[in-house]
Amino acid sequence: MLDNLTARLSRVVKTLKGEARLTEANTQEMLREVRLALLEADVALPVVREFVARVKEKALGEDVAGSLTPGQALVGVVHKELTTLMGGDLGPNATELSLAQQPPAVILMAGLQGSGKTTTTGKLARWLAEGGHVQNGRKTGKKKVLVVSADVYRPAAIEQLKTVAAQAGVDFMPSTADQKPEDIARNALDHARRHHYDVLIVDTAGRLGIDEVLMNEIRALHALLNPIETLFVVDAMLGQDAVNVAKAFNDALPLTGVVLTKLDGDARGGAALSVRQITGKPLKFVGVSEKLAGLEPFHPERMAQRVLGMGDILSLVEEAQRAIDVDEAQKLAAKLKSGDRFDLNDFRSQIAQMKNLGDMGSLLEKLPAQFSQAASQIDGKQANKQVRRMEGILNAMTELERSKPELIKASRKRRIATGAGVQVQEVNRMLAQFEQMQAMMKQMKKGGMAKMMRAMGG
Ligand code: GDP
Repeated sequence: MLDNLTARLSRVVKTLKGEARLTEANTQEMLREVRLALLEADVALPVVREFVARVKEKALGEDVAGSLTPGQALVGVVHKELTTLMGGDLGPNATELSLAQQPPAVILMAGLQGSGKTTTTGKLARWLAEGGHVQNGRKTGKKKVLVVSADVYRPAAIEQLKTVAAQAGVDFMPSTADQKPEDIARNALDHARRHHYDVLIVDTAGRLGIDEVLMNEIRALHALLNPIETLFVVDAMLGQDAVNVAKAFNDALPLTGVVLTKLDGDARGGAALSVRQITGKPLKFVGVSEKLAGLEPFHPERMAQRVLGMGDILSLVEEAQRAIDVDEAQKLAAKLKSGDRFDLNDFRSQIAQMKNLGDMGSLLEKLPAQFSQAASQIDGKQANKQVRRMEGILNAMTELERSKPELIKASRKRRIATGAGVQVQEVNRMLAQFEQMQAMMKQMKKGGMAKMMRAMGG
């Protein structure tokens, strides 16, 4: 989604390298790229205009703090505004599905025909039944879910929901094409109450376009059911048209959230931004495949970062900062400065810090797209195990061996390997890694930390 924005922004960041400040002139260039990228992604023009104006205002007021380059500062502003645009301004839990209603909590599904309403009903039901629901950041457990179709215009629609419900492993309330939608809804609600369902999801007739009769019908269903969630399901492929459809539904019904489907297709994703802006309602889920598992809760912040190709790089950095023991790092830095050697004791404390970073698998997932492709080849669990084994080897050494690694010859290697329960080759491999690290440390001492960081940043 919004791939072009990523590409365009990184080009701008490159051209801005070497400039000391954000100025009217260099910001202009960048804003042009942002504007083009958003338009290419099918974001509606009024939304683009407002967004670009906001970024400009913020960027020119931005102090480019010490370590940041103007390009990074700009990306920071774009990231912040994009998060806001995607719903970050609505509060941390706005994208959560609310079920805080005397059970059964009723969810009403609205949208055009073909938008993915029935499929999404099945996906949601499955997600709730399997315990996916989160409130205030906490899982609330598995739900007993009932689904019903009030689509009496297409008999196939009722059959479709029945099939989907069976696949999702949730209960299906039969209905027929000769019933009135309101009677179907009333029966289902009654049944759900009597049988203590946690959630009732009501699928409705799809509209081909904005149809007043059908709008009145869903309004009547809304009045009868008093749903806690009225979800507007919209196909991401609609592009610019999504705006008009969203507006019509938002005017007709008190929507509580939006589900954007088919983001896995070649949709350019701009619809997400437009719909959110036009309705003022949070995007709560995105559909990413035809399969029932293809539903993801929507996170504005994460999506904004993914759009910018940063992965969850910001939270990764924060996590790393929290985890790394500042004292240890300072000791190491002091040691480097004083010209002391980097030995296996230092290596061991570095490995311990790496372990503090937590589960390697989850860390790898947060890397930006460019890296996560490579990282996907790495098995997180495997990496964790690797770190533990390295620690085992280091612990099997004596203090003297760790401070004078050159002492470790064949017989010591055999003893260490036995102590750690590994093969001698593994001890050799670890020592080789240590030597690489030592060489890097030497390099750092020569070039200075700052130079190295700059090289990495560039
Ligand atoms: P409804 O008319 O609104 O109930 O729409 P359906 O649920 O019948 O979906 C219409 C078509 O879109 C079906 O072929 C679905 O398989 C497909 N579909 C729904 N959601 C997604 C999605 O997130 N990704 C993809 N690729 N296809 C989807």
